Amino acid sequence: MLSKTMAKAISQQITKEFYSGYLYLSMASFFESETLPGFAHWMRIQAQEESCHALIFFNYLSEQGHQAELGAIEAPPREFSSPLDVFKKTLEHEKQVTKSIYGLMEIAVGEKDFATQRFLDWFINEQVEEEATAHTLVGKLERIKNSSEGLFMLDNELQTRVFTVPAPLANKI
Ligand code: MG
Repeated sequence: MLSKTMAKAISQQITKEFYSGYLYLSMASFFESETLPGFAHWMRIQAQEESCHALIFFNYLSEQGHQAELGAIEAPPREFSSPLDVFKKTLEHEKQVTKSIYGLMEIAVGEKDFATQRFLDWFINEQVEEEATAHTLVGKLERIKNSSEGLFMLDNELQTRVFTVPAPLANKI
């Protein structure tokens, strides 16, 4: 069983993961309106992944016999000035998510909750990837600047992203 504090913090994380999905869906919509289908496709997959993250936390609570406390999901922003602006915001957002996951780990460590520490390891590794990917895309977009050819090529590259169910969920859906 989890402590009440741990269970509540995990419930809050579920809401945060759904918010991430909502944010990325809003970004996908921006890219669709800008006729950048590859960028939009990439963000749709990003949104799907976030829903999976939420379900991984949800399943963990259930397995531990806790009822989830699902909170309200805030409306995401819908004004973006450029693809670079979107990915700068993505990177900032992922840094916040990393902080939030570290907060969960601090609770688990403080409570000597070893099972939850093991469970959170996957998310800690995942956040390293998330930040690295967003950082790389910010770098590419900074190099592209206003080149429509560069943007077209990156759009084609992002179109190739394939959705894969995250490992902790792979045998559960
Ligand atoms: Mg996530």
